[in-house]
Amino acid sequence: AVPADCPADVEALGRSSWTLLHSISATYPVAPTTQEQSDVKSFLGLFGKLYPCWVCAEDFQEYMEREKIKASSRDEFGRWLCGAHNEVNRKLGKKEFDCNLWEERWRTGWKDGRCG
Ligand code: FAD
Repeated sequence: AVPADCPADVEALGRSSWTLLHSISATYPVAPTTQEQSDVKSFLGLFGKLYPCWVCAEDFQEYMEREKIKASSRDEFGRWLCGAHNEVNRKLGKKEFDCNLWEERWRTGWKDGRCG
């Protein structure tokens, strides 16, 4: 890992980016308006174009072509994003994450209370 005050490598960039994306899903409305749904889709479209890791961005854009963003509720968007992250996990040979747990990981904290 590179020191925190050095330019981000692909791993550090990825961890920070997933934190941002999943945190956006955690605060996404339970019942979003049409505008809010369209905003999150525009954001991810631009994110996919601008993501500063060329191969990552290309694969992520392809994924969004195949698996259209679902954002008609917080849970639907949280699960869609979890699926997108799992696609990268599979590609990198990492363990898949159980998407039933996305809200505990990113919104409420774990039931054992360890997140405070
Ligand atoms: P990360 O994968 O960064 O995950 C951070 C934390 O999120 C985990 O510790 C876990 O608690 C939680 N988590 C894990 N999976 C899920 C899930 N499915 N849903 C919810 N929470 C979850 N790296 C490459 O080398 N090649 C690529 O092509 C590539 N593409 C990427 C595309 C995007 C859009 C992003 C944001 C990142 C990409 N990365 C890519 C980076 C890669 O996904 C990881 O971020 C990086 O390898 C660091 O991995 P990590 O093991 O620290 O955990």
